[in-house]
Amino acid sequence: THFGFKSVPENMKETLVGKVFENVATKYDVMNDAMSLGVHRLWKDHTIRTMAPGPGTKLLDVAGGTGDIAMGFLNYCKEIHGDTSAKVTLLDINPKMLEVGKQRFLKTPYHNSSQVTFEVGNAEDLSSIPSNSYDVYTIAFGIRNCTHIDRVLHEAFRVLKPGGRFMCLEFGKVRNPLVSSIYNLYSFQIIPLIGQIIASDKDSYQYLVESIRQFPSQEQFAEMIMNAGFTIVGDGWEDLTFGIAALHSGFKL
Ligand code: SAM
Repeated sequence: THFGFKSVPENMKETLVGKVFENVATKYDVMNDAMSLGVHRLWKDHTIRTMAPGPGTKLLDVAGGTGDIAMGFLNYCKEIHGDTSAKVTLLDINPKMLEVGKQRFLKTPYHNSSQVTFEVGNAEDLSSIPSNSYDVYTIAFGIRNCTHIDRVLHEAFRVLKPGGRFMCLEFGKVRNPLVSSIYNLYSFQIIPLIGQIIASDKDSYQYLVESIRQFPSQEQFAEMIMNAGFTIVGDGWEDLTFGIAALHSGFKL
């Protein structure tokens, strides 16, 4: 299989993305650490601290995968507020990724509590989720894999309560030319190699790098968020690590 992403017709993207994450599910966490040198953990921690959820917050974590955001959220609520009433729904299109997440929660006190639920679903069509039902919606490194970003944003807006917050952690564009050239070299040459060595799957990681390149700039994405009806504060995003990642945020007011 070759994931020549550029040449793939739109209607095949979903199948292809499904295949990528099926291939990498069990290696996913190790690969994240290897490729980002652990930095993805800092970005996710930062996302939770920026969210600063209060007691009883209801979070919908879309494209939640193996559960980093969901786990970070529940840990924060417990450690900061001693709160065990916060709830998270972890939704992902890929049952294999969700399975890895479930296994991880089995080893924690959250297992057997009603604090976490798992749901297979598509970010573009959250029909099983009622409108105005969540305080916060997160999507971390997931929206880039979706075919219709506008539908994802529309659904996010719908399921959030009035006053609710949309937060998206995603790869961005690096503006600094020096950092940018080092980053390009690293992502196009080194990452597929790491993919080959750890997951024996160069093509999937080639796809991931290509999908990062194709994703809109921070400015363009902020505009899409506004077009979906969200109110943004300031620019609407924060660059993380020179813009390698960016944390976008919008409120349903
Ligand atoms: N949020 C997790 C994290 O930050 O570690 C997982 C990110 S992983 C790079 C992307 C996830 O998006 C995969 O688990 C994949 O199955 C999921 N995904 C891709 N397309 C999706 C869609 N249309 N709806 C829901 N999830 C999707």
